[in-house]
Amino acid sequence: MERESMPVDVLFVGGGPACLAGAIHLMDLIEKHNESAPEDQQLEEPMIALIEKGSEVGAHGISGAILDPRALTELIPDWQTRDDFPHERTVDAESMQFLTKTGAITAPIIPPFLKDHGLPIISVAKLEKWLAEGAEEKGVMVFPGFAGVDLLWDEDDDKRVTGVRTGDKGVDAHGEPKGTFELGMDLEAKVTILGEGPRGHLARKLIEKLELDKDSQPQVYEVGCKELLDMPEGSVTRGEVTLLAGYPLDLDTFGGGFIYTMAGDKLAIGLLVSLNAKDPAMDCHYLLQKLKNHPFVRRKLAGGKVVKYGAKTVTVGGWASVPKLYGAGAMLCGDTASFLNPMRIKGIHLSMKTGMLAAETAFAALLSGDSSESALAAFAQKVDQSWVKEEMEPAKNWHSAFENGMVQGGFRGGLQFLFGPGKDIQPFHADYKEMRKKAAVYGSNDYPARDDLTYDNEYIVDKLTDVYRSGTKHDEDQPCHLLIADREICATKCKEEYGNPCERFCPAQVYNMVDNQESGRKEMQVDFANCVHCKTCDIRDPYQIIRWVPPEGGQGPEYGVL
Ligand code: SF4
Repeated sequence: MERESMPVDVLFVGGGPACLAGAIHLMDLIEKHNESAPEDQQLEEPMIALIEKGSEVGAHGISGAILDPRALTELIPDWQTRDDFPHERTVDAESMQFLTKTGAITAPIIPPFLKDHGLPIISVAKLEKWLAEGAEEKGVMVFPGFAGVDLLWDEDDDKRVTGVRTGDKGVDAHGEPKGTFELGMDLEAKVTILGEGPRGHLARKLIEKLELDKDSQPQVYEVGCKELLDMPEGSVTRGEVTLLAGYPLDLDTFGGGFIYTMAGDKLAIGLLVSLNAKDPAMDCHYLLQKLKNHPFVRRKLAGGKVVKYGAKTVTVGGWASVPKLYGAGAMLCGDTASFLNPMRIKGIHLSMKTGMLAAETAFAALLSGDSSESALAAFAQKVDQSWVKEEMEPAKNWHSAFENGMVQGGFRGGLQFLFGPGKDIQPFHADYKEMRKKAAVYGSNDYPARDDLTYDNEYIVDKLTDVYRSGTKHDEDQPCHLLIADREICATKCKEEYGNPCERFCPAQVYNMVDNQESGRKEMQVDFANCVHCKTCDIRDPYQIIRWVPPEGGQGPEYGVL
């Protein structure tokens, strides 16, 4: 079979806010240019394409989304008056609670950087759908269901990106073609913009090959689990946000919870936990159930029934972890390049803005016919001269302040807020290096018994039931997309040293050590069909032997409203 190729001018990889905003902005720039440029200098019939691995744009979109609309207003100034904008509510009541095991103390003030009053509450999945419709109206070719599996490199210059190869479809579990087989396509692009979200598959290849991260701190992450609840009719009346600190996290573990109201009678609750958690038994999904079992939260969510679940990672290294943003023919934007303000835990606006700045750079490259490394260096300059740096630079040492937990972090973070972050970036470690061995945390014992939660699967929900509510689907007759380099380590070294923490940290119960009659011991079983594409395993595995690669395009979670 001959592989098809399709030439495009600019290719965006990822249907999140970064690439969608970039694609819209690029079409606007081209349109404006063509209105005033002489005919022979116009960019005629520009081919701008965007690929998304989910079944549709928004299928994989999930975020605790109180939107800072700064970038959206620059992109679509009249968004507030558009009837079709997917606005859930506006924040008109905020509070912060410190939770002890059974009590709750209301914080007298909310730190200014966490205040959201007047901001829109949105569903990021719905925002993505809305942006994709806008992009298509402007002529962007949006291809959902296509996963980028490889970068294409110039035959004469192996450091120059010339596009992306999409994954084959219809391959069976042994790698053989099925009746539905379709060869992936080569999208050959003058400029490729990667905005794949945290731990992007192609971004990682680009960063590794071009050593784009040699002068930055490692990318570090939190995992977030989130549920959407149907509340009793008429009970949700305001745009209310509640931030939760303390229980169920211990003082060594950075993270926190949130509850906010959505349109209708819906309410969202989520918990973020740092992937540098020292406890190997850290399980964000279980901790979220414990949080919901807290008396304060139970009162707040009384009568609620979980209807949707999702999990994703969030980049929290901030400015310190931003890699070099370009190489010949390619740029990185959004979460994939660590554009999130860890102090505010907000990144959609930064993703959108960096997507737009990448688009401006790509536009200049199309006009000049030059997408060399030195031409695309303008992107980094644009970021440095924009409000992105202005916002992120003061938080550059936020992650390092909290690297050793909440007590030291509260003190150091407070000093940074009052007196600034200091001149130099304070280094920190990759998350997986911070996990302690089981013996250091629990002595010779196994992980401790869990709290006795009553799983009714309506309010307190077990992991597998929540996985079902994520809507995730993978054809099981395909190659496993979670590559474990050495399963012997799972059955021996990891079991002894860390207690197989992937059974806990995966928020979708993909990894299970099961009895094997042949070997007479427990072996790793990977139930990859459950995967919700959060990348936690790829990041937190202490031996770094798990690699997440894209499964067949169009598969994975179906969030739609999260
Ligand atoms: Fe996330 Fe990995 Fe589990 Fe998939 S297998 S849900 S990527 S931790």
